[in-house]
Amino acid sequence: MISLSTPVEEIPKIGVAYAKRLKKFGIKTVQDLLFYFPARYDDFSEIISISQARNKLGEVACVQGEIIEIETSKSIYGRMAITKAVVQDRTAQINVIWFNQPYLEKSLRENDFICLAGKISLGKEGLFFNGPAYERINEIGENEELTHTGRIVPVYSETKGITSRWLRYVIKPLLYRFADQIQETLPKEIIKKYKFLPIQEAVWQLHFPDSFEHADAAKARFSFEELFLIQLNVLKEKIKLMQKKSAACPMDTDLMKNFTDSLPFKLTDSQKKCAFAILKDLEKTVPMSRLLEGDVGSGKTVVATMAALNVIKNGHQVAFMAPTEILAKQHFKTISELLKNFGVKIGLLTGKNARIFKDNETAEISKKSFLGDLENEQLNIAIGTHSLIQKGVEFKDLALVILDEQHRFGVEQRDHLIKNKKLVPHLLSMTATPIPRTLALTAYGDLDLSLINEMPKDRKKIKTIIVEPNQRKEAYAFIEKEVKDGKGVFVIFPKIDSQATKLKEAIEKHGPVSGSFIPQNYNVLSLSQLAVNEVKALKEEYERLSKEVFPDLRITMLHGKMKAPEKERIMLDFKKGEIDILLSTSVVEVGVDVPRATIMMIEGAERFGLSQLHQFRGRVGRSDMQSYCFLFTTDPSMLNRKRLKALVESNNGFELAEKDLEIRGPGSLYGTQQWGIPDMAMQGLTNIFLVEKTRAAAKEILEKDPELKNYPELKERLKQFQTRIHFE
Ligand code: ADP
Ligand code: MG
Repeated sequence: MISLSTPVEEIPKIGVAYAKRLKKFGIKTVQDLLFYFPARYDDFSEIISISQARNKLGEVACVQGEIIEIETSKSIYGRMAITKAVVQDRTAQINVIWFNQPYLEKSLRENDFICLAGKISLGKEGLFFNGPAYERINEIGENEELTHTGRIVPVYSETKGITSRWLRYVIKPLLYRFADQIQETLPKEIIKKYKFLPIQEAVWQLHFPDSFEHADAAKARFSFEELFLIQLNVLKEKIKLMQKKSAACPMDTDLMKNFTDSLPFKLTDSQKKCAFAILKDLEKTVPMSRLLEGDVGSGKTVVATMAALNVIKNGHQVAFMAPTEILAKQHFKTISELLKNFGVKIGLLTGKNARIFKDNETAEISKKSFLGDLENEQLNIAIGTHSLIQKGVEFKDLALVILDEQHRFGVEQRDHLIKNKKLVPHLLSMTATPIPRTLALTAYGDLDLSLINEMPKDRKKIKTIIVEPNQRKEAYAFIEKEVKDGKGVFVIFPKIDSQATKLKEAIEKHGPVSGSFIPQNYNVLSLSQLAVNEVKALKEEYERLSKEVFPDLRITMLHGKMKAPEKERIMLDFKKGEIDILLSTSVVEVGVDVPRATIMMIEGAERFGLSQLHQFRGRVGRSDMQSYCFLFTTDPSMLNRKRLKALVESNNGFELAEKDLEIRGPGSLYGTQQWGIPDMAMQGLTNIFLVEKTRAAAKEILEKDPELKNYPELKERLKQFQTRIHFE
């Protein structure tokens, strides 16, 4: 008996081979397949007569008629099948041509009635369709039960060997059989309140909508549902955490004052406000979960250090985790300096090496004695990468975990840190990635938010300039002058052209010749030529810059394929002024502090998201010298102009993140892939009202019924959902 939970390979039309391909989309069962939703639709809903098609030249049209001639032949080179047909209705005739679809010879015959949809072109022999969608019909005028034409037709994201046509052919009969059996997930009261389509109807309407309004209604329902599940998930975790206990660390106001007095600068108001919120959280036994957001250079480290110092003076330990070893070392240096007069013992763990700072001295120690020191509390604060939470690393009394640019850190990871102990550590997460409010409320919905929204006063605003191709020379001359003044320059070179990748995919999918978007000379480029290697491209740019543009300057490359010690040595040389220009790919670590660098030059700026460009820009402007950001672009399109102009005009990361979301959509959000947010929910992220509604709905349900006892279907879906998304 076939049911919703039947594996797809048991469906006769699918079988083992197709099932394997479907697996790439995560589709294993009939239900999964019914929930594989189209990416977009083709509107073939208006059927016109062939004579009317004359008025539709260059547009998409749908006609019905009888095949009066059909023939398949080989191309001159004998490689490709060409099928030509003539179709006629009561008003006129139209020619049709299909390339490379040899099976048409068997499936379509003279005197068959057919429905065709596609772009109308004009050729030597009159009007024609080039490769239209088609389906056989019983008679002209038939418009019930059409699948590929004569309606709003779903278009899915495809993979090798799975076409939209095939998906429609498989999904439609399954909908007839099983749509009614899909269990409703959303609570009745929510469906009623928001007038949502019931799930069975919504699934139908998403695949084969009666109108675009119906499709939108179905989408709205699933956007809500996915966001609602994320909210339930996040809020449930939060409830779980609230039931645990952390060490309460009363604020030592004198100590905090001594610390701020010891700084060579005054804290900004924002820094003070954030520090206060954090220190207040630490006073409670409820575990803190706070996200400290602030632009690059806004001074998050000092704020985190205050929290650490307060926890240490309350007699507990602190872990400080950075995303890379270079950054961990930098933090070790900074924090040792900041805390040098406070009698704190600081440790750094990187790979196999360890280092400690105490009694105003730094010393190398073995990893073994480092671990021993942690366990018997000879160390107050341990700085490192993720290695700090690995097996074998035991803190005696860990009360605060600080995460720099690590984003997610869940209840589970905390649990892991405190195995067999009663108290869980407080958590302070820091990020310079500006997160739009919708995303903060979803992916980070369990965290309280603190914003540092002003920069230290001595900073000059970075001048951001779009450099047109004809202004390059001028920009290069300016850079040379700055270098002669002792300034450092970053050059960011984008990852390899996605155009080449797209072209490659297109050729694989359509075979040569079919689509008009493939350039005429497609066949002279071999696929291996297209797959240019990133490092190779960087080397070419290096050659160009060092031989042609800046022959007198010291240029060095930095890329992701290099080992950590090498990267570190290069960064250090750059910091010391032994390198003038650092040329790197976009993968190179964020957060590295090189105050003497005053120029950020970005090649192919149009290929980056605004938030990412803003991050790059934050590498400079870290001193009182005037800094510059040059955006080199070759793409004059309006959309691109609009985006780059937004960057010139705004220095505020949050504004830019919202702009990115608005201009490029949620797919552009920096790091969205790693959040694993499903498609429909992503689309919902553009809508703050929707996000707020789902959050309120989730809260309401959990307050009434924290275990979801009265909502078994919802509970089950949530369980499946949790395995599907993994926030890390
Ligand atoms: P980020 O928020 O990017 O982590 P950092 O904490 O690395 O920024 O701070 C950047 C630089 O600004 C550091 O050199 C730090 O000492 C300095 N700094 C921090 N706060 C202030 C302030 N209020 N006034 C002046 N300089 C500051
Ligand atoms: Mg930082």
